[in-house]
Amino acid sequence: MNLEEVKSLIRDVKDFPKAGIVFKDITPILANAKARKLLTTLLTDQYASHGIEAVAGIEARGFLFGMALADALNVPFLPVRKAGKLPYKRLSETYDLEYGTATVEMHEDAVRNGQKILIHDDLLATGGTAAAAGRLVKRLGGEVTGFSFVISLQFLSGKKNLEQSFGAPVRSLFDF
Ligand code: AMP
Repeated sequence: MNLEEVKSLIRDVKDFPKAGIVFKDITPILANAKARKLLTTLLTDQYASHGIEAVAGIEARGFLFGMALADALNVPFLPVRKAGKLPYKRLSETYDLEYGTATVEMHEDAVRNGQKILIHDDLLATGGTAAAAGRLVKRLGGEVTGFSFVISLQFLSGKKNLEQSFGAPVRSLFDF
């Protein structure tokens, strides 16, 4: 199994969840243990020497490889959840969607002061979701050390937006 073979497992689903969107479906990767392990190794290698002290993974698909990444780096995993899911005291960040807004939350005691945090999600589109997670980490006293994605949609300039806003590297394994 090599990187190109893993990439070929990503399935395009047209018009999901609505007309005009081509959804990048990673479930065929999840169903393949060799692909999953290679992906985890490659994601980990990108940030192995960055002194990462915790991985913040974005609900829901950012939990999948985010947890594996935290395991491999031997650091805490911090869930960034959709509004109303976390049980304890929390901070919220709201961001704009094409129509309307969305909110992500973290527990108020999730981050240590100055902790070097890697933010992970499955896919980078406009960068709005990851930026909201980054703002949460900063408000909680953490340092956004990098962004990690399995997939990046390059025509949406999310990478440039995140790099400009946070001054941290933005890395992905598969660019479309
Ligand atoms: P954005 O905030 O625009 O960067 O959107 C990223 C979030 O939306 C991630 O949590 C992705 O899982 C999801 N997402 C956006 N576009 C797609 C797509 N084409 N295929 C799969 N997931 C997507």
